Amino acid sequence: MKKILIIDDTRVNIVILQELLSKKYDVISQTNGFKAIEIVKNEKVDLILLDVMMPEIDGFETCKILKQNPKTKDIPIFFITAKADEDSIENAYELGGSDYISKPFKPKELLAKINREFSMQDMISHLHYISSYDEMTGILNRRKFFELATKRFDETKENLYAVMIDIDKFKNINDTYGHAFGDKVIKCITNTIKNYLQNKGIFARLGGEEFVILIESLECNNDIETYMEELRVLVSTQTLNTDKNTQISFTISQGISQKDDFIKDIDHLLKKADDALYEAKGDGRNKTIFRV
Ligand code: GH3
Ligand code: MG
Ligand code: MG
Repeated sequence: MKKILIIDDTRVNIVILQELLSKKYDVISQTNGFKAIEIVKNEKVDLILLDVMMPEIDGFETCKILKQNPKTKDIPIFFITAKADEDSIENAYELGGSDYISKPFKPKELLAKINREFSMQDMISHLHYISSYDEMTGILNRRKFFELATKRFDETKENLYAVMIDIDKFKNINDTYGHAFGDKVIKCITNTIKNYLQNKGIFARLGGEEFVILIESLECNNDIETYMEELRVLVSTQTLNTDKNTQISFTISQGISQKDDFIKDIDHLLKKADDALYEAKGDGRNKTIFRV
């Protein structure tokens, strides 16, 4: 249930709004702007209905403070006020208000506007999700990986490793058992790696049957090669049942690189890991190669 915070110094206004909204929404209220700001810092609120004329701190000031705080700036604010002059309306939007509703308000109009606001919020969070996660596996996608990895690269000194992972002879699996079964293999390997990592490092699907992990030595008990070798072996012990009543297993190859003074950026670090992966493929596959 979406949560709406009503901020109004007149209790009867709160009661009217509460009556209208509480069937569909979780409604909380506050008569003082300062106290409301404190609530919003600690509770997840999806929409604020804000009165303008209030003693101590008015609605415009309250809005200004909320919009200055990174933690609260994205919460939409609807002004609900008896002030109907054009300057106030202009001011409300300039301060970051999402809507301006004059009192006495029309209940159906208010409900429609709230409904539209929440549909838009849901749409935005869905877009946010699909721009960051890979649809098939649910792990980070390439775009989000580069965003997070660039930041991590800049923050970390030499104890940072990139691991490129590629499924061996995957085309054969597709050709023999079909594309849908190939997808199952990708998901199975993803889950194996995800469970092994237990949220350590940044793990993403770069595309096709290629994955990447960016990880710090502290996170993998200092010996990256042993840590990744264990993962390689673990993947090779997994099996899947095919519809031809057989069981198959599969393997991965891994290339590891480490950040040092000569590596300028994340692309360079990944290129080195990719070179190591290429060597692992040339060396017979189902291997981990670490190139310092
Ligand atoms: P190597 O050991 O050298 O990596 O050989 P490989 O066959 O794994 O590599 P190759 O790059 O030749 O083939 C990868 C195949 O992966 C080709 C492509 O059709 C398939 N593929 C890419 N994305 C997907 C996917 O999402 N699902 C399925 N089922 N197949 C995919
Ligand atoms: Mg492959
Ligand atoms: Mg490949």
